[in-house]
Amino acid sequence: MCRWLFPVFLAFAAAAHAADWTTPAEASHFRTTPSYADTLSYLQRLQKAAPGKLKLETFGTTPEGRPMTVVIASGDGVFSPEAARAAHRPVVLLQAGIHPGEIEGKDAGLMLLRDFAVTGRLPHLLDHAVLVYIPVFSVDGHENSSPYHRINQNGPQSMGFRGQSQYLNLNRDYVKADAPEMRAWLKLWRRWLPDFLIDVHTTDGADYQYDLTWYTEDPHKLDAGVAAWQRSLMDKAIPAYEARGHLASIYLEFKDGRDPRKGITNFGSGPRFSTGYAALQDRPALLIETHMLKTYAVRVRAVYDLVDVLLERIGQQPGALLKTTAAADARTIARAHDPAARVALTFKPDPASTPYELKGYAFTIARSDVSGSDWIRYDPTHPQRYTIPNWDGLLPDVSIAPPAAYAIPAQWAVLIDRLDAHGITYHRLAEPMKVSAQGYQLEQPHWAAHPFEGHLMLRDVQVHAVPRETILPTGSVIVPLGQRAANVAIELLEPQAPDSMLRWGYLDAIFEPKEYGEPRVLEKLARGMQASDPALEAAFERKVHDDPAFAADPAARLMFFFERSPWYAAQHVGAYPVLRLGAAELKTLDSGPAH
Ligand SMILES: [Zn+2]
Repeated sequence: MCRWLFPVFLAFAAAAHAADWTTPAEASHFRTTPSYADTLSYLQRLQKAAPGKLKLETFGTTPEGRPMTVVIASGDGVFSPEAARAAHRPVVLLQAGIHPGEIEGKDAGLMLLRDFAVTGRLPHLLDHAVLVYIPVFSVDGHENSSPYHRINQNGPQSMGFRGQSQYLNLNRDYVKADAPEMRAWLKLWRRWLPDFLIDVHTTDGADYQYDLTWYTEDPHKLDAGVAAWQRSLMDKAIPAYEARGHLASIYLEFKDGRDPRKGITNFGSGPRFSTGYAALQDRPALLIETHMLKTYAVRVRAVYDLVDVLLERIGQQPGALLKTTAAADARTIARAHDPAARVALTFKPDPASTPYELKGYAFTIARSDVSGSDWIRYDPTHPQRYTIPNWDGLLPDVSIAPPAAYAIPAQWAVLIDRLDAHGITYHRLAEPMKVSAQGYQLEQPHWAAHPFEGHLMLRDVQVHAVPRETILPTGSVIVPLGQRAANVAIELLEPQAPDSMLRWGYLDAIFEPKEYGEPRVLEKLARGMQASDPALEAAFERKVHDDPAFAADPAARLMFFFERSPWYAAQHVGAYPVLRLGAAELKTLDSGPAH
């Protein structure tokens, strides 16, 4: 064929098959995944063909200026949260590409929407639920494509990068919300308040037979009703998924990646992750991890089938999900009036294990002269079953009694900004107000040596509850915990919470003494304190005797006295600025400003 005629022929062929809905990934036989532009143009074609079933919207802009697109899908044009509520339809948020190198969710989503909207294969998929679908969450990361981004993974040929353009991992950003993409997501979340979140990834780790693994948060991290709904959903969905020829497992984090026989542990999600954040918001959530060594075609089909099964199940009992989330919200709001309530901030492994039958492969472990350690090699031609211990259960560790409300002084705008991002309600003081409340004195802070997500996290700190009396300036905010997102406020504001703003380093300045004493001045102070306080003098002598590093450090020896003097106390080093108000103090505030 003449080279000039060839494009003309292609154009003619496309026109002749106007109803060709092959997705870009299918067209490449799953060797490649489409660019963001090609993804959007396919979705726009679908919308044009089925405007009563699909609606594309822009919900944000990436740091590199790209639009963030969401597709609303419903059987009969229910395209807004208000309409969904009026029609008593649960809202399912399905997101792909938060880690854009793990992009099955995008290509499976295009196929699902096509089969729902235009080919007639799944016409009733969304008769009773509304799907909010993000084809690519980390759009800039998706466009930063390379064959070398996922060394553990079997295709597609080129794939996006785990960090967005500012090198932030969006799946660690849910609580601190640094990234513009996360701010856009949280706005979308606040607007829709989805009843169920599905977050699609590709795993790393071991080789085994399963084409998909899945994770839901431990029941101890969840509202009891949410945990029960989730469990019942997965108990039914997984057999239905496997009946389609797949093999699924709970998420497999091995205690020792070099020997799976040593058992399974919890991978340690938390509120900074998608499912952990949904737990704080009292919403069920499912993490899907396709297995990175299966072909891309198998992985896309795995996501397609599981999401189809899940939507089918939810559509059969939409009221059960709506009732579950409404009841969870009501319980969190009511907890504000329960003086015996406790909220767990951290979790520890449950020492009890259960046996788990792993559908794995035969493997050998050899000594490696490269690593100097064990080297595991799987043999995928020899499927083999292993009964191994499963320790993925968690138990509450550090817990707190939630206050009736938090008070945040106006100057800590960085904290108030996060309340806004998460849709936490509060009221602002119109004039200064004196409060007596519980505060925290923080001692012995230790920071991580290396940055994590752009922060040197506060690793350890001693937290002492202390009474505090202070005058809150005009513009300070009072955050009552009788609200549905109370757990997010607790996570942001309790110093011991793993994703608190304190832990992320936003309040580091409170640990910095701003005034110092000249050595010759401290000499005089120290001698005066030694003379007037024999117990202090004895403590000093003991420390000099027991601690050679201290004894050899002239500045530390003088600081010993300075730190115990009113000159240092007046700087309020380590005084946590957020206060905890009890029910009585909150009532005083509600009844008007006290001068
Ligand atoms: Zn991932």
